[in-house]
Amino acid sequence: MENRKWEENIRRVIPYVAGEQPNKAGMIKLNTNECPYPPSPQVEKALKELDSKAFRLYPDPDNRLLTRALAEYYHVEPEQVFAGVGSDDVLSMAFMTFFNGKKPILFPDVTYSFYDVWAGLHHIPYETCPLDESWHIRPEDYRRPNGGVIFPNPNAPTGLCESLDTVEEIVRDNRDCVVIVDEAYIDFGGESALPLLKKYDNLFVVQTFSKSRAMAGMRIGFGIGNERLVKYLNDVKFSFNSYTLNLPAQVLGAEAVRDEKYFRDTTDRIIATRERVKQRLAELGFTFPDSMANFIFASHKSIPAGEIFQALRERDIYVRYWNKPRINNYLRITIGTDEEMDALLAFLENFIAGKGCR
Ligand code: PMP
Repeated sequence: MENRKWEENIRRVIPYVAGEQPNKAGMIKLNTNECPYPPSPQVEKALKELDSKAFRLYPDPDNRLLTRALAEYYHVEPEQVFAGVGSDDVLSMAFMTFFNGKKPILFPDVTYSFYDVWAGLHHIPYETCPLDESWHIRPEDYRRPNGGVIFPNPNAPTGLCESLDTVEEIVRDNRDCVVIVDEAYIDFGGESALPLLKKYDNLFVVQTFSKSRAMAGMRIGFGIGNERLVKYLNDVKFSFNSYTLNLPAQVLGAEAVRDEKYFRDTTDRIIATRERVKQRLAELGFTFPDSMANFIFASHKSIPAGEIFQALRERDIYVRYWNKPRINNYLRITIGTDEEMDALLAFLENFIAGKGCR
């Protein structure tokens, strides 16, 4: 098709492809790392009590209700907290604000597939650093000149968590640029980099309410860093869109943060299911990095991942599969309820037995 003249002025990007959101009765949805349990009952209660002001008036552009609740919970100053419409919003703003130099930013070759999309959108040069054979980050790769560093911990889609020492090494080696640690999955067993904020002013830690706090639909994410970093981030945010989080999201997010017991119980439950599923998957001939997230990145010893993915899909069991170099023989399976995981395991057992592979 021939280009129109006006197309010369268009910003062209290759967009991120989100996991599908099917809505079929009886389906088992294990493809986008959502929480299988409802949010805290406090959240539901607060939702019922919302009055019409929440709809009629603009929300607080500083998101103070939420940033204060988070500051209290994480023992930091409210000025150190930046909230956004899911951590995707926080990360996109952070790319725009912190990665503004000429040198390439660095991130792992196998990682969250939004990073190269934001780099493309914001015209940020980047280079990827290959994970080692056991899917771990090699901190020495991050010692070369760069315009910033970002990596998830635990990493996605591998689920592997790096030690706090490794994270600190990368932050320490890069004091002249900003290092973003994307902790979307940190509540499922990893050690957060937040305590490092006392020592390093170039660190920005990003987390989300979408996984461990069961609020993916509300779209709440946040980042915590040095006050100066957060001020720069707010300057960019207020040059882009002042009203990001709506009032219900701020109110309900703050309620979720206050219910620590429910949060701990829910994450413990997911971790227990994950460990049980790991054992069964291993017995069925799968191998996987030792996940510290709410998903498992698994490969079968004899059946190609693409084939298992299709078979599951036909049974309305949705998992995630990428036909990409290095990871095209892996399935990323979100941890659902025990019943959902039992249905998945029963299907896999039958399917594998039917192939004569056990
Ligand atoms: N970071 C990582 C590593 C993720 O996997 C996701 C989920 N797709 C996000 C950030 C964004 O999550 P959300 O925008 O729902 O907070």
